[in-house]
Amino acid sequence: MKFTRRTLLKFAGIGTVAIAMMPRVAFAARNSLRNVRTGIQPGNKTRLVIETGARPSYSISYPTNQLVVTLSNTAANASLAPSLVAGSLVRAITQVQSGDKLQIIADLNHPINEIPRDNILLLTPNGDNDYRLVLDFTAAAGAPVAATATSAPSQQASAPSRKYVVVIDAGHGGKDPGCIGKGGTQEKVVVLAVAKKLKNKLDAAGFQTYLTRSNDTYLKLAQRAAIGEKKHADLFLSLHANANPSRAMQGFSIYTLSEKASDEEAAKLADAENAADKIDVSGFEQFDKDIRIALSSLQQHAVAEMSVEYANGAASAFKRAKITQQPGPDVRHAPFAVLRSTVPGALIELGHLSNAAEEKLLKSSSHQDKLVAAIVKSVKAYNFDV
Ligand SMILES: [Zn+2]
Repeated sequence: MKFTRRTLLKFAGIGTVAIAMMPRVAFAARNSLRNVRTGIQPGNKTRLVIETGARPSYSISYPTNQLVVTLSNTAANASLAPSLVAGSLVRAITQVQSGDKLQIIADLNHPINEIPRDNILLLTPNGDNDYRLVLDFTAAAGAPVAATATSAPSQQASAPSRKYVVVIDAGHGGKDPGCIGKGGTQEKVVVLAVAKKLKNKLDAAGFQTYLTRSNDTYLKLAQRAAIGEKKHADLFLSLHANANPSRAMQGFSIYTLSEKASDEEAAKLADAENAADKIDVSGFEQFDKDIRIALSSLQQHAVAEMSVEYANGAASAFKRAKITQQPGPDVRHAPFAVLRSTVPGALIELGHLSNAAEEKLLKSSSHQDKLVAAIVKSVKAYNFDV
């Protein structure tokens, strides 16, 4: 049966009632539109998120003052009221069903240029979210962004609206002590203590958390990453403490995954942390290989971008808490095996056990609380909703 009528569903923002007379969809749509929303990202970027039940096949076009995303083999959603934030470039969203194609038409306040590939992400389902096509864009040069209030300002909720899943990985464990301070403090002990405190605080803040280990157990790095996958984590945090040949070196540092290290020091650190796997050869090598094959380059890009977003926020939270920072960039990148998964995340070196003063701090409950408070802030500030 042929779909003969163009269906036009017009929405102008939050609270607008959708037209209820949606003709029956006369084709067997492979995909369905679940949600459309906008947001504002740092740098005055407008973010348009299109959520679909299955992996979308799409094309993007740029008519004057519009952004049109065409989804093939997708059914419109008559009951959907897109959530549009005030101040973004999008002032209205329209769904147009034409045959088996669904067009999402965003009416814009200002012209935009073609969106660079780097600003188009396709994210796979996690938690309550389905597939999400995420487009970030700004007004074309010369076009100022006008503040348009098409809807109530988005609420800055202090508690998350659904339970986001955070997996907390205390590094090392069992026969692998990690690094050891001059005073005999073992990395595996310090990071487990911080991980447990962090779990309590995040649970209290409304997150769903899991520890990769809750006692002095040895786990391979890929097993840790696999726990993040199995729990459908939204965020994976691996906690470590550092050692440096220079006993004067101190401070925290934050890392995300990249196949190429951002600097020599980051490369050495990844080697040191990855060496944990050389202690035991049984088990999970295949997982790492499988997960890397499963990750498309676009997904890898999305996971990397979200990880860096989190890591930047974490570095800010640590600095605001006046926790000493290791000299160097806020966020570094290196091939950490524990971060190889589809879950965005970061590896946090809480401080240097090789520095006498910091070894004392890392052992102290009050400093651990300070570290935990900064991490909790960074998790709350992280934008889970893309
Ligand atoms: Zn470590």
